[in-house]
Amino acid sequence: MSARTVHVIGAGLAGLSAAVALANRGAKVRLVEGGVQAGGRCRSYFDPVLNHIIDNGNHLVLSGNHATHDYLRTIGSVDKLAGPDAARFDFMDVRSGARWTIAPNEGPLPWWVLVKSRRVPGSSVGEYVALAKLLARSPGKRIDEVIDCKGAVWEKLLQPLLLAALNTDPASGSAELASAVIRESLARGGHAYRPRIASPTLGATFIDPALAFLKIKGASVTFGARLRGLGFDNGKLASLDFADGSVALSADDRVVLATPAWVTKDLIPDVAAPTQFCTIVNAHFAMPAPAGASLMTGVIGGTAEWVFAFSDRLSVTVSGADAIVDQDREALAKLLWKDVAAVHRLGAELPPWQIVKERRATFAATPEQARLRAAAATRWKNLFLAGDWTDTGLPATIEGAVRSGKKAADLALR
Ligand SMILES: Cc1cc2nc3c(=O)[nH]c(=O)nc-3n(C[C@H](O)[C@H](O)[C@H](O)COP(=O)(O)OP(=O)(O)OC[C@H]3O[C@@H](n4cnc5c(N)ncnc54)[C@H](O)[C@@H]3O)c2cc1C
Repeated sequence: MSARTVHVIGAGLAGLSAAVALANRGAKVRLVEGGVQAGGRCRSYFDPVLNHIIDNGNHLVLSGNHATHDYLRTIGSVDKLAGPDAARFDFMDVRSGARWTIAPNEGPLPWWVLVKSRRVPGSSVGEYVALAKLLARSPGKRIDEVIDCKGAVWEKLLQPLLLAALNTDPASGSAELASAVIRESLARGGHAYRPRIASPTLGATFIDPALAFLKIKGASVTFGARLRGLGFDNGKLASLDFADGSVALSADDRVVLATPAWVTKDLIPDVAAPTQFCTIVNAHFAMPAPAGASLMTGVIGGTAEWVFAFSDRLSVTVSGADAIVDQDREALAKLLWKDVAAVHRLGAELPPWQIVKERRATFAATPEQARLRAAAATRWKNLFLAGDWTDTGLPATIEGAVRSGKKAADLALR
């Protein structure tokens, strides 16, 4: 048995996915996180204002995200993903008060678009057919260079779904990344895009069970140890430099660097990495969801994009939120509550609230930025990269982060 240690730096989902895959295959794992807790951009914490554990932001995954489901099965928490038994998306246009539900059929032949009551109000079958162009690969192109970004299906379905997936203005987003998402979800039929939400929290679903799994497998996990530098020697990574000293690597050791793009670029200045990032703003309102409330509702014509209903809170996500992020927090809470109140037929008075601004939530999913993603393997044979920003072929998502970690783990053990 080799004495090799695999050092995983960063305990976000990419690092956890790598550490879990490695530990599951019997590797000796040392996971090191710079912050005080694991989860990175997908974390939960106690909020003293609301007196609740909240998520930094609502995270949606889809039933067809196979790597995410495999990861959750391995750590024993796949049953913590909640969601409807079929792909159903409730929407409300807060300008007109109109409400509708998109109800795709399960299989890959999308006959639901032929049934008026199941499709977007005011849409024609021809609009769905025209979207097929997005299925073809179009490297380097923007979405608006491939399809017409207008019409009912665009405004009331594709635009909100792609904004959630890309976290970037969809018209100028990468057609290649949109195509990857569509090929893995919408094109496979409703069974592949049932919405799935961590319940009760991200931490309880994605993070804490992974840390428990690693403990059982004997992995070492250290918090509050920020990697400051890398020492290279003779074509290999030779040391990891932390504030309290340097860790010399043995000849057989491997390192998975699962830090965000901007940190990795600081550590390895000539690495290819995206340089532009987009914001997500979340608002949490402490009150139980009204009886019968839909788990998530897409908002058209408002400021909120998705309103999520949990047993202890109503939460709002605004993706690509760069235009509103600098607004005063109280003004934001009032603005977003208007949409929540419309969706759930509530009064004007705000319950206790919290606003969470994530300024570098994801890299900007434009064709230019997508070109700047690094491969998992590096020119140093014992160093591998992971993270939602590496070249996964997907936008910056949980599924992308988990796949990147698994891939780096596979390479490290090869
Ligand atoms: C508000 C919000 C909403 C989102 N919604 C969705 C969604 O609905 N669906 C979806 O699929 N995705 C969503 N995402 C994206 C998803 O959260 C990310 O793609 C994913 O969490 C990225 O994981 P990661 O491990 O690549 O990076 P990170 O989570 O950034 O992890 C990197 C880790 O490295 C640590 N670190 C940094 N520097 C150092 C250092 N020098 N030394 C040691 N450790 C270090 C950090 O503390 C962090 O823990 C959302 C993101 C945000 C912010």
